[in-house]
Amino acid sequence: MLAAVTDSILQLIVKTSTDLPPDVRAAMKATRDAEPPTTQSGQALTIIAQNIDQAADVEGAICQDTGMPTFEVRTPVGANQISMRQQIREAVVQATRQGKLRPNSVDSLTGENSGDNLGPGTPIIHFEQWEKDEIEVKLILKGGGCENMNAQYSVPCELPHLGRADRTLEGVRKCILHAVWQAQGKGCGPGAVGVSIGGDRTSGYAHAKEQLFRTLDDVNPDPRLAELEASIMGKVNRLGIGTMGFGGNVTLIGCKIAAQNRLPASFFVSVAYDCWAFRRLGVRLDARDGAITSWLYRDPSSPVIPMLDQAGFVRTGREVTLTAPISEEQIRSLKVGDVVLVTGRAFTGRDAVHAHLMKHEPPVDLRGAVLYHCGPVVAKRGDEWTVTAAGPTTSIREEPYQADIIKRYGVRAIIGKGGMGARTLGALKEHGAVYLNAVGGAAQFYARCIERVDDVSLMEFGTPEAMWHLQVRDFPAIVTMDAHGNSLHKDVETASGEKLELLQTG
Ligand code: SF4
Repeated sequence: MLAAVTDSILQLIVKTSTDLPPDVRAAMKATRDAEPPTTQSGQALTIIAQNIDQAADVEGAICQDTGMPTFEVRTPVGANQISMRQQIREAVVQATRQGKLRPNSVDSLTGENSGDNLGPGTPIIHFEQWEKDEIEVKLILKGGGCENMNAQYSVPCELPHLGRADRTLEGVRKCILHAVWQAQGKGCGPGAVGVSIGGDRTSGYAHAKEQLFRTLDDVNPDPRLAELEASIMGKVNRLGIGTMGFGGNVTLIGCKIAAQNRLPASFFVSVAYDCWAFRRLGVRLDARDGAITSWLYRDPSSPVIPMLDQAGFVRTGREVTLTAPISEEQIRSLKVGDVVLVTGRAFTGRDAVHAHLMKHEPPVDLRGAVLYHCGPVVAKRGDEWTVTAAGPTTSIREEPYQADIIKRYGVRAIIGKGGMGARTLGALKEHGAVYLNAVGGAAQFYARCIERVDDVSLMEFGTPEAMWHLQVRDFPAIVTMDAHGNSLHKDVETASGEKLELLQTG
């Protein structure tokens, strides 16, 4: 056993979860420069920039969803991979205990959270041998919201707005454009995509994810793929989807494509979508003791340049204060595009809570309440719970339940990200409620809007899935679905779909 491996991997996990690499920071800075600061995308980017700085300052998780830890390890011939695997797993446990990783490993049959990120299939650790005499470990933390936006195409196929995608590079281009378009704001854009052409269904997705280890500013060594990447980047930002799907000039910050051989009968295009919280780093280790000898993707001797060169989220004076419990009259006065500041009690609820509420009475009175789609990272200090990361989770997963819950229990405001569907929109109108889009991934920023944790219910579902009773103050969000039947998400999807058709000729 190499004495220092556990400590080295723990350092790698902490840095990856809390400090974005320089290439991603640079891409996000360029994105901010491209969006006017007073637009919805511009305001969201200010919150994102503030969040990135806050996370690095306090070594807190950039996003509360610390994702599926995926390690790519290269070892010299003869290295003991069995003990190294144990040490990586131990580092994962320690990082979870320290709150740098959220407990994210859930039994798929019982729904039980293992609590330490260990379980069948988690974390993912791939080993490979190489001829060098040092160890390389790369780590990516890719969350569920963007993972759910991955897409795989078996071409030839028909695509909405784009027509037939053939087994050509033009067909591949259409698949990638479609994958980015269908993600809208649900994957916390602006995103980056890794793409694999070929392979089988399994190797295609794995190969696509591997491309996310390339830096955003590199150039593909294959000139045909370099041209395809440039063509995607040149076109996709004309879709106008923008940050969080709010509409805007930047939808994608990177596109990395590779090809592998395939069976004659199959032609897969696999797309791995990653969010703006694009967390990947790596280290080289001394093969004699496992100590870190150098970092990949970042130069630890260079100072981290802050993302914000001005004050953070700046109020315009037009924000609407919503104090829970909220009246129907106030809700009906809101319209899409309004920026609100929520104050008072908010209850978290995500997948397990929504399923529970379909069969059981809520543990609290939800009349006039704010329901926050969030699985926070919480730490217990003495007898008190503290929220250390608390951004919104993807709301569309709750679409089968949300309308019934609004109707039955009188919820007035849903906070989440990515928007919801037609049934929820109908319930908002009929029962007088709104959907508020918070900025996905801004976990540090929103944790600072939580004054205290008053209580917790349904703890049997595990920390991220429990119902936390939070006292929030001036929690900013944008009304993206109102009580009059309007939905910014629907509008942006329709408009970007029309632009997708125009890209065919542009
Ligand atoms: S930024 Fe959004 S998509 Fe990315 S991990 Fe966080 S919640 Fe998930």
